[in-house]
Amino acid sequence: MEAIDNIDDIRTKVRSLKKQEKSVAFVPTMGALHEGHLSLFRLAQQHADEVVVSIYVNPEQFGPDEDFDEYPRELENDLAKCEEEGIAAVFAPSDTLMYPGEQLLSIHIDELNKYMDGGSRPGFFEGILLIVNKLFNIIGPDIAVFGQKDIQQFRILQQMVKEFNHDIELIMGPIQRANDGLALSSRNAYLDDQQRKLAPGLYRSLQYVAKQIKEGAQNVELLLDHQKDELQAKGFKIDYVNLFSFEKVAPVTDPKGNNKYILGGAVYLGETRLIDNIIIEK
Ligand code: AMP
Repeated sequence: MEAIDNIDDIRTKVRSLKKQEKSVAFVPTMGALHEGHLSLFRLAQQHADEVVVSIYVNPEQFGPDEDFDEYPRELENDLAKCEEEGIAAVFAPSDTLMYPGEQLLSIHIDELNKYMDGGSRPGFFEGILLIVNKLFNIIGPDIAVFGQKDIQQFRILQQMVKEFNHDIELIMGPIQRANDGLALSSRNAYLDDQQRKLAPGLYRSLQYVAKQIKEGAQNVELLLDHQKDELQAKGFKIDYVNLFSFEKVAPVTDPKGNNKYILGGAVYLGETRLIDNIIIEK
């Protein structure tokens, strides 16, 4: 496996794979790899001949009060995992390579980022679109794989690929969870023992609401309010717990038939922000 930190070499690598008539799938990550990431690598391998991974903690998607400095960085460990998974190449660039000078252009998002994480984290999805655009243009994959864990990211990238005509097929991988249901995340490492015990409560709460909605519950708002109260009583600080349309990522109170919805939650345990979601198809 090649670990590559410059643009020419990763382009040469991908071109040589394509010359051998191999299809290439790309999985962008911020590293501190866990089973969630590895599941995306394996899914990518099912859809393409070779898989390229990027490991880059993108400063543009962190707000000034967020955890950019604390974010776990474990490159050596991550490279060993990629090697073990049969990844063809890892692109691990520096900040100066990705942002070599003043960035005079940006990508603006008109819709799809008003609620959920976009509502709580100003500039977050603009930062993601910027880096994913750069990475797509550098790597030039046939396929790119992202996790349902960040479902709003997936939805916005889907729109980006469509509106900006990227010739890349997007695939979404399911959320990988610990045995107690907690969605795996690099940020789970921030949780202390007590918080870690509480953490699966978010998913349990979403599961309960999802079941009620699927069974035809009428008053979704009341149902959500009740769950939020319970989570708060347990020690969670709620950012949002709500039902959103998949298409517009906007709140919905009366889910109807033949539509796709996101039941999503973001909560804090101490300083740690946890997110999770369930897709509901009615
Ligand atoms: P990150 O390194 O957090 O930027 O995540 C890189 C990719 O892995 C994104 O597409 C995430 O949605 C995905 N991912 C993160 N956690 C999980 C998980 N628990 N299960 C599946 N995919 C995940």
